Amino acid sequence: MSGSLAIVGLGPGEARYLTPSALAALEAASDLVGYGPYLDRVPERAGQAKHASDNRVEVERARHALMLAAEGKAVAVVSGGDPGVFAMAAAVFEALEAGEPSWRRLQITVEPGITAMLAAAAKAGAPLGGDFCAISLSDNLKPWEVVTARLSAALSADFVIALYNPISKARPWQLGKALELAATIRAAETPVIFARAVGRPDENLRVLTLTEAVAAADSADMATLVMIGASATRLIAREGRNPIVYTPRSVTKSPCATSQGRT
Ligand code: SAH
Repeated sequence: MSGSLAIVGLGPGEARYLTPSALAALEAASDLVGYGPYLDRVPERAGQAKHASDNRVEVERARHALMLAAEGKAVAVVSGGDPGVFAMAAAVFEALEAGEPSWRRLQITVEPGITAMLAAAAKAGAPLGGDFCAISLSDNLKPWEVVTARLSAALSADFVIALYNPISKARPWQLGKALELAATIRAAETPVIFARAVGRPDENLRVLTLTEAVAAADSADMATLVMIGASATRLIAREGRNPIVYTPRSVTKSPCATSQGRT
């Protein structure tokens, strides 16, 4: 088959966060497929067809991209951040697995991008210096009980936790519940980062305590990445500037001791 499919990560925002490799894959494409606002971020190139779709129809969009590639097109499917993190790459492979056997002969590549968690961490300092994990709070694709079970386990194991998809109009209460759960396991002073629209002109980073974060949960939105510190995560205060948030690399306490966050 002559068609190809590149699954491309656009990074968190502005074009300077796009890797040269991802940019080359976008330039080589005859057809771009993706959620409308992400397609709008792709630099214009004459003669390139853009196929915008709604945010929720990921596997349908992936099938469409595979069909275009099977017709011989050079297709690029775009995702914000990294396409493998809560995004299109898994949807494409789901569609590939269930789809036409001939699609497996297509040339398929994944172009990584800077995921929101890493962009936010870099703005804050080095909160991911120790062990960490990422959890999507969206219960569109998994039951809420699974989210809370994973969150409880991660809190008890003293991971730094990045929360993707913290809140939306259809899911207004999940972040509040998640932070309340965190407050039952971690210390009240634990640093929590609300990083909004990182890498975009309206970027905003707030460093709160866990207690403040519980009260401020409603102020997050779909463009926010929330990061809950581990017991060792700390602040370096700086006059007139945001504090630096970091997690030292060395760990001396066991998770049993640190899961209380107060030892
Ligand atoms: N593939 C994307 C994540 C998709 S899930 C990535 O790798 O970043 C969508 C969630 O990602 C949003 O709800 C938000 O929590 C986070 N996110 C994406 N872009 C962001 C940005 N620029 N700043 C802060 N959070 C962002």
